[in-house]
Amino acid sequence: MKTCSKCSLSYSLDEFPNNKKTKDGKGSWCKSCCKLYNNQTKEYKRVKALQYYYQNKEKCNQQQKNSSTKIAPGVYMIKNILTGDFYIGESTQPQKRFWQHCSDKSNNTSKYFLNKKEELIWGIIEHCNPNQLKVKEEYWIKTLKPTLNGAK
Ligand SMILES: [Zn+2]
Repeated sequence: MKTCSKCSLSYSLDEFPNNKKTKDGKGSWCKSCCKLYNNQTKEYKRVKALQYYYQNKEKCNQQQKNSSTKIAPGVYMIKNILTGDFYIGESTQPQKRFWQHCSDKSNNTSKYFLNKKEELIWGIIEHCNPNQLKVKEEYWIKTLKPTLNGAK
């Protein structure tokens, strides 16, 4: 018999995991204590991983926001991946515009995108000179027939 140093209960040696470092060749915690501890550790790691994910997601979004002015002028598309609806627009700062759509209530188009960042994908269709933006936007709207532009 051996007493578990964790739960203070006595078990036969079979109930203790092997451990080469100890005198009797057995660990000081019984198997069920070890199991419990491992499960707790696993759960703890899982929670930590989730926390990390959410914190970094926030950080990622923040970085995107901060780099918003670095993307060259162009025609952009915002697509809702759940509904398939999409919108085409032009901007000298396309990424900044995207963020406006997701957060600015006063923006007319934002009603489709407000607080829906999770459902949206965003991308540049074509970069162009600022003085070509209107022409290019018209071209792409005609070509791709976005579902959300009509209500502009
Ligand atoms: Zn124990």
